[in-house]
Amino acid sequence: MRHGFVLAALMAMVCSCIADNAPRLSRAEKDIIDAEGIMRVLTVSDKEDSLVLRSKCSDFPVKILRSERFVRLADRMIATVTDSTQDGVGIAGPQVGLKRRVVAVQRFDKAGEPFEVYPNIRVEYLSDEKQTGPEGCLSIPEIHGEVERSQTVVISYVDIRTLEAVRDTVRGFTAVIFQHETDHLDGILFTDRM
Ligand SMILES: [Zn+2]
Repeated sequence: MRHGFVLAALMAMVCSCIADNAPRLSRAEKDIIDAEGIMRVLTVSDKEDSLVLRSKCSDFPVKILRSERFVRLADRMIATVTDSTQDGVGIAGPQVGLKRRVVAVQRFDKAGEPFEVYPNIRVEYLSDEKQTGPEGCLSIPEIHGEVERSQTVVISYVDIRTLEAVRDTVRGFTAVIFQHETDHLDGILFTDRM
């Protein structure tokens, strides 16, 4: 009985922190976000960069998602991926030096094809139906190759306007971008899947 009680109390403690147990931003992370202009894109050819690109990422604390600092990060990630020197369709946290679960993705499935930013994102479902298509990566500038990806994904993330956890079903090329970018958050590069 007593053991059961202790276990229940422990579980309650664990569960109460699951909602927001993300590590606080380090000084180095704040410096990366607070800098000016286009962000430096890490590449696999640099030894230290490749360690970051192979890391597992953490969520952002909800407090950060509410802050001006996160708005700044979202703006700078979009400015970086759309810059003429990069001209990408998606970018992930580790690619700008942050081991955090955030991606910016161009929504080819939405009117105007806007870039949108998705913090604390996870892939919840991958369809068995696959498609093979060409991919490249801002962090591996020299290589392009064919990768097989699911045609449909279900993603979960925190909506940056409402700060609510939401789910979204995405299909086609945009679903491929989400798979490529969320792979980055687990330290996986598209060349691993070629
Ligand atoms: Zn990439």
